[in-house]
Amino acid sequence: MSVRGKGAKIMALQDFERYPLTFGPSPVHQLPRLSAHLGGASIWAKREDCNSGLAFGGNKVRKLEYLVPDALAQGADTLVSIGGYQSNHTRQVAAVAAHVGLKCRLVQEHWVDWDDPGTDRVGNILLSRIMGADVRLDPAGFDIGIRTSWETALREVREAGGTPYGIPAGASEHPLGGLGFARWAYEVAEQEKELGVFFDTIVVCTVTGSTHAGMIAGFHALREAGGRPRRVLGIDASATLDRTREQVVRIARHTADLIGVDTPIADDEVVVLPGWAGQEYGVPVDSTVEAIRLTGRLEGVILDPVYEGKSMAGLIDLVSSGEISRDSTVLYAHLGGQLALNAYPAIFD
Ligand SMILES: *Cc1c(COP(=O)(O)O)cnc(C)c1O
Repeated sequence: MSVRGKGAKIMALQDFERYPLTFGPSPVHQLPRLSAHLGGASIWAKREDCNSGLAFGGNKVRKLEYLVPDALAQGADTLVSIGGYQSNHTRQVAAVAAHVGLKCRLVQEHWVDWDDPGTDRVGNILLSRIMGADVRLDPAGFDIGIRTSWETALREVREAGGTPYGIPAGASEHPLGGLGFARWAYEVAEQEKELGVFFDTIVVCTVTGSTHAGMIAGFHALREAGGRPRRVLGIDASATLDRTREQVVRIARHTADLIGVDTPIADDEVVVLPGWAGQEYGVPVDSTVEAIRLTGRLEGVILDPVYEGKSMAGLIDLVSSGEISRDSTVLYAHLGGQLALNAYPAIFD
């Protein structure tokens, strides 16, 4: 272990306590019919949508593996979090709370201007209610930052005699929020060895930022340890590109510090591509719906209209245009999210 500054010990990823909530490494497999349809590259997927037995899993479960030990160490009795009505994140917080025996208080805001009936009742929010979370609806609109409604919820839990543990939207603005996907990078490197492949390009959906940021930090650390260079392409699904990019840069640098990298994260390591988010978070556009249909019909793999449909639309265009070359080996990070489809039936009528 190296030493920095005045004898301060540099932490490494394995120094952080992790509470296992996933089955183990998430599955990696090829998407052969999609690859053939696009005329190359060789496209693979890594499946965070089936990474855990907790309420259908997803990328937030992986992040929460590093937050739960902190919550337990602080003696918290209630996880307090926030998202849109159909937030995948809050559903995963509710599942993790149930699993570890904590209470759960959720602020569900009106983030998405989409009025299929049942949007505040079906899919994710239905599951959160089943799992016993205290679900409160709030009319506020989309924002990836720290919200007053969330701070109010924390205060109310405290006033009622509870000990809240706050988890911001997507667990991103949490000091430990990037660690789960830094670890994901190491997991990919292990799986590459087993499979005898090298993914030169990773494609990932980015909104609150700590998934993408964690990957950047993790792959940066692997590169310092002698690994081959690769690209991590974030596909924006927030439609607030500048804020998301700023948040990714900040979390990537913070996470890199936590895991003790030596060299700074360069600006060009953070790539957040616009073009597939449409005008608004949570509202699918034509390319989203086409990507969902294509992936469903060719591979039997289901994507959602808020996140993965948009990142897959990006992947499809980048491969089709040659920006991702035909001889590339691409890993598509499937981050989950299918339950939200229940709130969008009109798209496929
Ligand atoms: C939260 C989420 C994302 C975005 O991850 P961030 O860490 O918020 O950038 C992508 N896909 C799905 C399915 C999600 O639930």
